[in-house]
Amino acid sequence: MINFHAAYLKLTLWYLLIVTTISIGFSFYLYRTTSAELGRGFRRQATSFRDTAILPGSMAIRIPNDIDQLIIGQFNESKNRLITNLIYFNLLILVLAGIGSYYLAKRTLRPIEEVLDLQNRFTADASHELRTPLTAMKTEIEVSLRDKNPDPAEARKLLESNLEEIAKLESLSNALLKLSRYQNNNRADFQNVPLNEVVVEAYGCVAKLASQKSIEIICKPELDSEQMKIILKGDKQSLIELFVILLENAVKYSPAESKIYILIEQSNKNAIITIRDQGIGIKASDLPYIFNRFYRADTSRSKEKVDGYGLGLSIAKQIVERHKGNITAESKSGRGSKFTVRLALV
Ligand code: ADP
Repeated sequence: MINFHAAYLKLTLWYLLIVTTISIGFSFYLYRTTSAELGRGFRRQATSFRDTAILPGSMAIRIPNDIDQLIIGQFNESKNRLITNLIYFNLLILVLAGIGSYYLAKRTLRPIEEVLDLQNRFTADASHELRTPLTAMKTEIEVSLRDKNPDPAEARKLLESNLEEIAKLESLSNALLKLSRYQNNNRADFQNVPLNEVVVEAYGCVAKLASQKSIEIICKPELDSEQMKIILKGDKQSLIELFVILLENAVKYSPAESKIYILIEQSNKNAIITIRDQGIGIKASDLPYIFNRFYRADTSRSKEKVDGYGLGLSIAKQIVERHKGNITAESKSGRGSKFTVRLALV
């Protein structure tokens, strides 16, 4: 764990050291050039005094005998004043640089602190989600082991239940892997991808789930129509993943026998894909957070207890951002949801 207070102070000292070194170096240079200039000035003054004193026919000017002493005294006094001013100047710089450096150190380190905070929260959430199925499995196995003569039917039930928990763990670790895979901004593997192929494949992945709830998925315009000949630049697999997430959510959070619409439009070199459902909707208070990792609205946690980890939409957002597009959600509790994805055309 990084102690950020100590890091602020260390960085402040480094900034301060740099500024002070520059300031002292500059003062030293100023002192050398100014005192040389002063020396030349006083020497010129002394010569002109002497010249005036020996000019033939000049008025009798009384020149002190110790003219050199006098000029040297003035020169030293000017030099001392210069040194004092430079010391005050450096002290002022030190105080101002101290304040400025602390402020700059905080600004420099804040993004790192925020990323680390996010990372820590993510690790804590992921561990929590991983621990839940593990604890369930452990408890079931412990209880079963206490039984000296286990009933084969009970043992089978236990194994089935364990298998369910393992499936949950598998889907969670897959989601975590996807999240880290789509985090990279590498666009080297991008190709021309026909949008209708993406939609067809995504539809294929959710068709079974939708038919189990007798939900109809309607695409406008129809997938084989001329308007659907839209080509995107991207990673086909991740684009399919994006639409699977949105369609799967639409199915998960919709009542049986409802309809889901996929609307596709083209505007200003963008493809706009809207997925609208007639489901439970999202409360206004949840809406700003649904793209956050592990965020699940209370309605999906309780009530009919829809399976999920709150990672789907954050993966979707990451995929869209990797394609330099954007994704937005509009919804009202109990009145369905609408997710809009905007992606650049080739
Ligand atoms: P989850 O695995 O919980 O579905 P997501 O990240 O995909 O995770 O979604 C986050 C939350 O957003 C969900 O828990 C749910 O509350 C809400 N949500 C997402 N899509 C919909 C939808 N189509 N209708 C209603 N709520 C939705």
